[in-house]
Amino acid sequence: MIVCYTVAELRKARARLPAPVGFVPTMGYLHAGHLALVRQSKLENAATVVSIFVNPTQFDRADDLASYPRDVPRDLRLLEDLGVDAVFVPSADEMYPPGFKTLVRVQEITEVLEGAHRPGHFDGVATVVTKLFNIVQPDRAYFGQKDAQQVVVVKRLVADLNFPLEIRVVPTVREPDGLALSSRNVRLTPEGRRAAPLLFRALSAARDAWLAGERDAERLRERVRAVLAKEPRIRLEYVSLAHPETLEELEGEVSRGLLSLAAWIDDVRLIDNVVLEGEV
Ligand code: AMP
Repeated sequence: MIVCYTVAELRKARARLPAPVGFVPTMGYLHAGHLALVRQSKLENAATVVSIFVNPTQFDRADDLASYPRDVPRDLRLLEDLGVDAVFVPSADEMYPPGFKTLVRVQEITEVLEGAHRPGHFDGVATVVTKLFNIVQPDRAYFGQKDAQQVVVVKRLVADLNFPLEIRVVPTVREPDGLALSSRNVRLTPEGRRAAPLLFRALSAARDAWLAGERDAERLRERVRAVLAKEPRIRLEYVSLAHPETLEELEGEVSRGLLSLAAWIDDVRLIDNVVLEGEV
């Protein structure tokens, strides 16, 4: 496994890889969710490149960036064990050298949900993903359904800017109690960790109602709120039932949708989602 710290090193390593090349962008502190993306890439490609970069421009809060967990040596061991071909671990200065002035902005679909609560977040995501795609030049790139809006935004970016690659989406990997794996979970207190599975339980309650025939958008959102109201430790930031591509909030009878939420537990902000689709 080749570990590259500069764009020049990565380009050199990339030139020697067999096609097709799969790419998994991450912010590190790897867990089984990230590893599922890597395994999928390994299955579908001749070579796999992973990036580890805690991208400062997608953080809207300095404390979140400062407290974001990091352990690159451990990450490299995990990736080596999976048989990854190359890892890109750039510094912030390597990605954003003095004089950097460019911003990539996907409009409208970035202004709702996460975008509404994390100003500038998706400008940071779109810009770094554009840079990483240009540096790595993958044939396929792997993203988790856990970050559903990110998937919608990156797909739009790839279509709009004609990136010659395919976006592959991997289902959310969960703890046995349902909590979606996240690098931020380690920051939960023991009490917070005990409360956290309620997020997925609330989404699942609404999905069960959906499967039982409930089609009213507001009543489905209300299901989620009702379950979470039982746990004072959880402060719900939003619950949304939106069109899966336009991300417009749905009202009245719905035939399919993305049910998503963001919530604070102690001082940790967590997100999760389920897709409502198909007939019973
Ligand atoms: P991050 O390091 O949080 O930026 O995540 C890197 C990639 O891993 C993103 O595409 C995430 O959507 C994906 N990911 C994070 N958590 C999970 C999970 N629990 N299941 C599946 N994919 C995930």
